[in-house]
Amino acid sequence: MSKLPVLEVRELTVRSAERTLLQNVSFTVQPGEWRALVGESGSGKSVTAAAVMGMLPQELESTGTVFIEQTDLGKLSKRERRRFCGRHVGMIFQDYANSLTPSVRVGTQLKEVFRFSGGGNKKEADARIVEVLEQAELSPQAVLDKYPFELSGGQLQRVAIAMAVIHRPPLLIADEATASLDASTSKKMISLIRNIQKQTGCAVLWITHDLHTVSRCADTVSVMYGGQMMEQLRLSGSEPAFVHPYSRLLFGSILRLVPEKRPLSFIPGDPAQISERGCSFALRCPYAVASCDRERPSPHRMTDTHEVSCHVIHQGGLPHEHSASSGELKKELSQTTGIGSGQLLHSAR
Ligand code: SF4
Repeated sequence: MSKLPVLEVRELTVRSAERTLLQNVSFTVQPGEWRALVGESGSGKSVTAAAVMGMLPQELESTGTVFIEQTDLGKLSKRERRRFCGRHVGMIFQDYANSLTPSVRVGTQLKEVFRFSGGGNKKEADARIVEVLEQAELSPQAVLDKYPFELSGGQLQRVAIAMAVIHRPPLLIADEATASLDASTSKKMISLIRNIQKQTGCAVLWITHDLHTVSRCADTVSVMYGGQMMEQLRLSGSEPAFVHPYSRLLFGSILRLVPEKRPLSFIPGDPAQISERGCSFALRCPYAVASCDRERPSPHRMTDTHEVSCHVIHQGGLPHEHSASSGELKKELSQTTGIGSGQLLHSAR
């Protein structure tokens, strides 16, 4: 199997007339890897997916490079890019029912997708449709001649997954695919995609704000805030070893990943508070120092599988425990770095 990334995003920046939506975002997805792209609303996760697929609204301007299987998508025309992505990427959306045309039978739609994505003749299409429906744990006889409105929500969801992988794409992008599902259905869907991934060897880019799903499926996590990449980490062990203030507060705020002896964290402020000049988290960060609001922190490689963008961490500040309040975080920071609370940007908080 190739060791070259299936997807490589370099210095991706997206701007609207009013503001910068993504700032120098870089990451890779390796063959067979499941990478979760996480963050609160407005962090830039879905803009990243749209930019990768060339589906940004016309009024947005983007720079940077996107490679899929070593092809530079920026060098393709709009039509070529659409066709290339159609063949190399499968997409699963939150609104899976809208992936299907209500007035066309499921079997016909699967055949069309197979043909558009460069599939073979009719015999090959029929065989592949049966195979992919069975992978999605559906009986072909039960769905092929049906219209989408005749299927249950669960069946529709599985047909949407089958449609996304029918052409054996090396990359599957799932954008908030479990956002509208209850916990038990979401678990089943993840396990289904995991099985398909094992059978086909495809890589998965899992875009989500549901942190519970991350611990269930991801090999690696990229944490975004306000259009900037905060931290990227390969998961190992039972608890992710995040060090970035935002990641720690974010993941410390969910019950499953917090050991009982630690209190739950909370993130001060709200997701709309984004600093435009320096670190995008500076307006909410309990650790922020003056430089945070002025200069954007560059990514710093902690290990081969761990990258962090944070001024204070680059200066050697690495508090060891999750904390419940900004006051406790400030105390830890002072102990680990010698930065006094008077030097913190939000010392009045
Ligand atoms: S300490 Fe500064 S650079 Fe680090 S996350 Fe907080 S605001 Fe950003």
